[in-house]
Amino acid sequence: MLSEKLLKDLNTQIKYEFYAAHLYMAMAAYCDSEDLDGFANFFKMQAEEERFHAMKLYDFVNQMDGRIVMQGLDEPNNDFTSMLDAFQKALAHEQHVTKQIYTLMDRASAEKEHATMSLLKWFIDEQVEEEDMFKNLVKKLERIGDDGTGLYMLDGELAQRVFTPPANTAQ
Ligand code: MG
Repeated sequence: MLSEKLLKDLNTQIKYEFYAAHLYMAMAAYCDSEDLDGFANFFKMQAEEERFHAMKLYDFVNQMDGRIVMQGLDEPNNDFTSMLDAFQKALAHEQHVTKQIYTLMDRASAEKEHATMSLLKWFIDEQVEEEDMFKNLVKKLERIGDDGTGLYMLDGELAQRVFTPPANTAQ
């Protein structure tokens, strides 16, 4: 049984994960407006991953007999000046999400809510991967700088990204 406070916080995290999908679609739209289809694909796949995160929390809350309450999403930033700018903002966002997950884990730990702690452990590991991926891409874009050829090479690489939900976490 989830406490009222933990249930509220998990519902808020569901909102944050859907908001992340919303934000990454804003970044995809910017890339599409620059005709960089590979970069746009990367962010569309990232948005899929964020919806998967939201649904993983949704399914957990439901399994724990908690009531899901869908909340409104804020309008994301739609203003970007370059691919590097978009990826720096994406990295900053993921670092912010890590803090949100840590705060949730602190609450679950304080309540000794082990099932929620087990779920959040998965999210903590996932955040390590997310931050690493964005740091890596920020570095690549910093190296590329104004090199158009490098940018198109990375665009081709990012066009290959697909999203496949992890098999062992299927509901
Ligand atoms: Mg996420």
